[in-house]
Amino acid sequence: MAKTVLKGGLVIDPANKIEQVADVLIEDGKIARIEANIDCEATEDMEVIDVSGKVVAPGLVDIHAHLRDPGFPEREDFKSSTRCAAMGGYTTLIAMPNTDPVCDHPVVAEYVISKGNRVGIVNILPFGAITKGQKGQELAPFVELVEAGCVAFSDDGQPVTNSGLMREALIKAKALNKVLAVHCEDRTITGDGIINDGEVSRRLGLKGIPYTSEAVMVARDILLAEETGGQVHICHVGCARSVELIREGKKRGIAVSGEVIPAYLNNTDEDLQTLDARFKIKPPFGSKKDQEALKEGLVDGTIEVIATDHAPYNIVDKKDFFTAPFGLIALETSLSVVLTEMVHSGLLSMSEAIAKMSYNPAKLIGLDKGTLGIGKDADIVVIDPDLEWQVNVNESESKSRNCPQHGRWLKGKAVLTMVAGKKVMQDGKILV
Ligand SMILES: [Zn+2]
Repeated sequence: MAKTVLKGGLVIDPANKIEQVADVLIEDGKIARIEANIDCEATEDMEVIDVSGKVVAPGLVDIHAHLRDPGFPEREDFKSSTRCAAMGGYTTLIAMPNTDPVCDHPVVAEYVISKGNRVGIVNILPFGAITKGQKGQELAPFVELVEAGCVAFSDDGQPVTNSGLMREALIKAKALNKVLAVHCEDRTITGDGIINDGEVSRRLGLKGIPYTSEAVMVARDILLAEETGGQVHICHVGCARSVELIREGKKRGIAVSGEVIPAYLNNTDEDLQTLDARFKIKPPFGSKKDQEALKEGLVDGTIEVIATDHAPYNIVDKKDFFTAPFGLIALETSLSVVLTEMVHSGLLSMSEAIAKMSYNPAKLIGLDKGTLGIGKDADIVVIDPDLEWQVNVNESESKSRNCPQHGRWLKGKAVLTMVAGKKVMQDGKILV
C-alpha cells in the first residue's frame, strides 16, 4: 500500500515545534503532508488509520543498545532486538560495539549494517569502538570506521582508563565531527562492589560501589573535552554528582551531554534488597536522592537524551545474584517508564519527553532522524498516553528476561510503529 493517512492524532514533532491535532499523509515511505484535515478515503492504495486520542510522534531513536550480534546469539540478535524495538516505539537503534568480535574494524561495521538491516525490522547503525578490542590500549581506526558507516564511537561496557588515550581519542573524533559516548567508571574504585554504596548496601552487608567510581571519570572526561574541544557524551548517568558535573560543564560551554536510562527513573537501590539479579546493573541504581537528581537533570535540560542501555543476558547468566553480569533489557518498556515517571507526573511535557527520545539523540550524532519533517522517512510511533499495562517479561520479544520492570504497572504505550511508512507493530503485534 503506497499511501497511509494517520487521522486525527495529536501530532508532536519537537524538531519543527509542531504540537497540534492533524492528519499525517505518508506516501512512498516519506512524510508527505501534515494538515488539519486531509481529505481521504480508504481504497486499495490508501490505508486510513484512526489515531484520534493518540499521540503521533517521530519514531524513537536509541543511541545505547546492545544487540549482541555478532557473538552472543543466545542473548539477543538483530531479529529479536528489533522486534523489541518495534514493540517499544523505537525505529532506529545504534548498536554498541561490545560484540565478539568488537566493532573496531570496518568489516564488523559493514556486517552490522548489512545483516542488521536485512534481518532487523527497524533501522540499525553501528557505533565504532574507541579502542581496538575495547582493550583501552590503542585507538581503533576512526577514519575507516566512519567510512564504513559508524555514526559515533564508544567503548561502552568498558571505561577508557588511560587518560592520555582518551584525550587523543577526543582530538581525533573532533576532526571527524564525531561524538565519543563514554562509559564512566574507575574500576579501582568499583573494586568488587555489586550495588550502590549507601544505606541499602550497608544494611545488606554487601560491598558497595561508591558514586565516585562514576563521577571521577565524568569529571575527567569533561575536563578533557574542555581542553581538546572534543565532544563527550556521558552514557547511563547514574548519580547526583555526575548530573551536577554535566550541568557545570555545560555552563562553561563545554561540549558535554548526558543520557538517562529510564530504569533509573523507576528503580532505586532499595530494589536490590530482593537480591534479584534483574536489578544488578552498572552504574548501580542509586538512592532516591540520585533518582531525584536525574529527574531534575531531565527537567532543567542538563540531560537531553534518554537511551535504553538494552543489555540482554539469558536466565542462566542472571541466575546467581553475586556472579551475574550487570545489565537489563529495556527497549519494550523505556517509553512507558518515561511517560509514567516524567510525563504523567507533570515533570516533562509530552513534547519534551519525545524530543529526548528521538530528535535530541539523533541530532547529537548527526543523524537525519527523529523528526516528522515533510520529505523525511516516515519513521513514526503512535502512542496511547493513557493505556495502562502490566509488564510481563514472559511475553517479551527479547531472547532474555532480565527486565527490572517485570510485574510493574506503567501508563502509556506505543500502539503503532512504522518504519519508512511500513507498519511493523500494531496493537502489540509484530506485523512483519
Ligand atoms: Zn556502560
